[in-house]
Formats: sequence, C-alpha cells, structure tokens
Amino acid sequence: LPPVGVFALQGDVREHVAVLRGLGADVREVRTPAQLAEVAGLVIPGGESSVMDKLSRLFGLREPLRQRIADGMPVYGTCAGMIMLADRVLDAIEGQLTLGGLDVTVRRNAFGTQLDSFETDLAMPALGELPVHAVFIRAPVVVDAGPDVTVLSALDDGRIVAVEQGRLLATAFHPEVAGETRFHERFLAHVAAAS
Ligand code: GLN
Repeated sequence: LPPVGVFALQGDVREHVAVLRGLGADVREVRTPAQLAEVAGLVIPGGESSVMDKLSRLFGLREPLRQRIADGMPVYGTCAGMIMLADRVLDAIEGQLTLGGLDVTVRRNAFGTQLDSFETDLAMPALGELPVHAVFIRAPVVVDAGPDVTVLSALDDGRIVAVEQGRLLATAFHPEVAGETRFHERFLAHVAAAS
C-alpha cells in the first residue's frame, strides 16, 4: 500500500497515526503541500475545524487539498474532519470555510451542553455485526445529505453521524480513541482500491 497521511496542523493527530500504524500502514504527518503530494490518502482528525481551516490556508494546504479531493483521493474525516469535508456547514464561525467534497450539510457543536460529550453504541451494518462504540466530543451532525451520500449510521433519534460518498468517509465521533479500527480499515481499503 502507498503511504497515507494524517492532516497534522491541528487535532488529535497522534491517535490516528497510532491506529493506522497498528494496521500496518506507512503513515506520514501532512503539514505542507510537498508532504500531501507524497500520500495516497488522508485522515483529517478531530480538533477544531475553524482552526484547521485557518491553518490550512496559512500553510498553503487548502487549494492542494481541494484539488486532491476533487481528483478522488480517499479521505476519512472524524468530527472536525467531518466538518472540513462537508460542502455546507451551519453554526460555523464567521468566515469559516470547509474543504468540501461531501454533499452534506453539517451542524457544528450540534449537541447541547449536557450532551457536550457522550458515548454510545451504534449499529453499523456496513462494518459488520459488532456495534461501534462511538465517542462524541462537541460533535457535529449531518442535517442533510445529498442523493449520492450513503448513510452508514444514525442515532436513535435519527440524526446522521456516519456517512460515505465515493472514497470520502466521515464520522461525527472518534473511533481512534475507542479502540475501534474498522473505519481506518475501510479508509485503507479505499486507498488500495484507488491505487
Ligand atoms: N467542535 C469542533 C469543531 O467545530 C469539533 C470537535 C471535535 O473534533 N471533537 O470543529
């Protein structure tokens, strides 16, 4: 498998690197356009999407990233990474941009203060019989998904928290902190299929 990257300007980079290395991948931290050019797929971690946006513009990564996504590079975004992949975002900070690619509308910080952070088990048939232990931390939800988007999982109240469109995968929660590796395996399968 060619090298894969983790967007490393902000967020829980280390956790994603550890999961991917545990799966045997050659993992690079991506902070520059030159580093991006060397990877065949990218994980965008959890963190703060508005800061990721600012830093990716400052480091000249925004346009190369948009180009790679348009060219079909596999990307997996968790939480803030999901926001970065969304074409539309509600409750963004003023001037905040996303990279886009996923035909969804997400709402930032979609859970009230009491549910700021919570954990739950989610059924996710696409990943097998075993439920996913999902950790939500100031998480977004998908409030609207276009016709080409596959919904992988929703909460009991119907709110969508995991989606896929082509080789773009996104979860509102953090499998990388819960010992859950199936999303990263799925991402690596997309990379294998694309290369
Ligand atoms: N609330 C953060 C944002 O808007 C996302 C939180 C997370 O990634 N855990 O980017």
